[in-house]
Amino acid sequence: MKKPNIVILGAGYGGLTTTVKLQKKLGVNDANITLVNKHDYHYEATWLHEVAAGTIAPDRARFAIKDVIDGSKVNFVQDTVTSIDVENKKVVLEDGELDYDYLVVALGFEAATFGIPGLLENAFMIGNINSSRMLREHIDYHFAKYNNEIEKKQERLNIIVGGGGFTGIEYLGELTNRVTKLCEEYDIDRNQVRIINVEGAPSIMPGFDPQLVEYAMNTLEERGVEFKLGSMLKECRPDGITIEKDGEQEDIPSLTTVWAAGVRANSLVEKSLETNRGKVEVTPELRDPANENVFVIGDCALIMDKETGRPYPPTAQIAMQEAEVCAHNLATIVKGGSGELEHFEFNNLGTVASLGHSDAFGVVFGNKKIFGWTASVMKKVIDNRSLLKIGGLGLMLKKGKFNIFG
Ligand code: FAD
Ligand code: NAD
Repeated sequence: MKKPNIVILGAGYGGLTTTVKLQKKLGVNDANITLVNKHDYHYEATWLHEVAAGTIAPDRARFAIKDVIDGSKVNFVQDTVTSIDVENKKVVLEDGELDYDYLVVALGFEAATFGIPGLLENAFMIGNINSSRMLREHIDYHFAKYNNEIEKKQERLNIIVGGGGFTGIEYLGELTNRVTKLCEEYDIDRNQVRIINVEGAPSIMPGFDPQLVEYAMNTLEERGVEFKLGSMLKECRPDGITIEKDGEQEDIPSLTTVWAAGVRANSLVEKSLETNRGKVEVTPELRDPANENVFVIGDCALIMDKETGRPYPPTAQIAMQEAEVCAHNLATIVKGGSGELEHFEFNNLGTVASLGHSDAFGVVFGNKKIFGWTASVMKKVIDNRSLLKIGGLGLMLKKGKFNIFG
């Protein structure tokens, strides 16, 4: 009998976890497993704010895919997916095509720019290793340039962060630490540097625990961040932005605008499958309701939280849990027999956000609030756990965060 082709698109948290789980569950004779990813490495998307601020090197946040897959069971294809043809069960790549019997769509997120003029062209995004590295290099360049001009340009030292959600706040935590170092390195008075956060809601991290929001805001203000709350970013130009608050507009000059105000699913999903808010509203088995041989997980999938009536937020935590169910269901289908398909239930393990390498805040174990050093240790434990789950002890020891005292 012909072995079925399982094709997994994307080697992020969802796709790579599905692959490593499947290679344990299936034998070489059960299926042909193919993993497709743009790069030959996986990056820890949850560490990208550190790469983008320059507090860790890009290589710290990535590892080779071949180091965690079993080459005898999984065929890795480094290529870019350009479309998915569900009618003909084909995936079109920049450099070829792949036929599938079962497909896993785990292509992740991209920045949501909401049609705001100039953002795509002029703002920096924390979206992958390359965009994060470019932002870090850009900030370094302007600090280096500042003292090498007769007429000093303040806009070189004004850094705007659009969005005060988790990404914006974690980035600010890293950036404030990094800017202190850059000022020492480039002979710049720290008071010269303006770091401005623009958040459309009346508070940063709208909806999160108010005590923890206050902790994060006070910490960042003490480190020199200016918050513009209730202010919508309306336009981004190469030399500044326009914001609007209570109908009044204000221009802020800056050569660095970072857009961290939300994400959407990879736009390929909307082009190829039926979507709701750009994502596939999956069945409890994590299938596309219109194509039962297509599974969709991670930031490309939409699952409603029955308690709140709103979709679960897109996180690595949920992507990895979905991957386990997806791998189980695929293995069960491929092996035939009487196994039951699992229904996905989210097990919320909490939320912890960093404020640089030695400070953090969050909620764990249901409703326990943590902040400061304890939270920062917890954040590192969470980061290490994800490496352990994907690549085992070896990967965790090689790439993990163990600097809990500094
Ligand atoms: P991704 O991890 O985005 O992986 C998608 C993969 O697909 C990537 O390898 C990409 O290169 C590849 N790909 C994309 N397009 C193509 C294509 N056309 N062809 C081939 N390959 C392609 N979540 C948490 O739970 N905890 C956190 O602390 C946390 N911190 C975060 C910090 C930051 C700065 C950011 C930006 C996000 C954070 N998140 C966090 C959210 C989390 O990173 C995402 O929810 C998670 O990465 C989604 O996983 P995924 O597998 O769906 O996609
Ligand atoms: P988000 O949607 O959580 O936050 C975006 C913020 O930008 C919101 O506060 C929104 O009010 C604001 N905003 C939107 N448009 C704006 C505008 N025009 N002007 C000013 N402000 C505007 O997005 P995110 O922070 O990118 O996070 C994406 C996902 O990743 C979320 O699900 C988040 O939970 C997850 N994440 C988790 C962690 C963590 O657990 N530590 C860290 C980072 C990201």
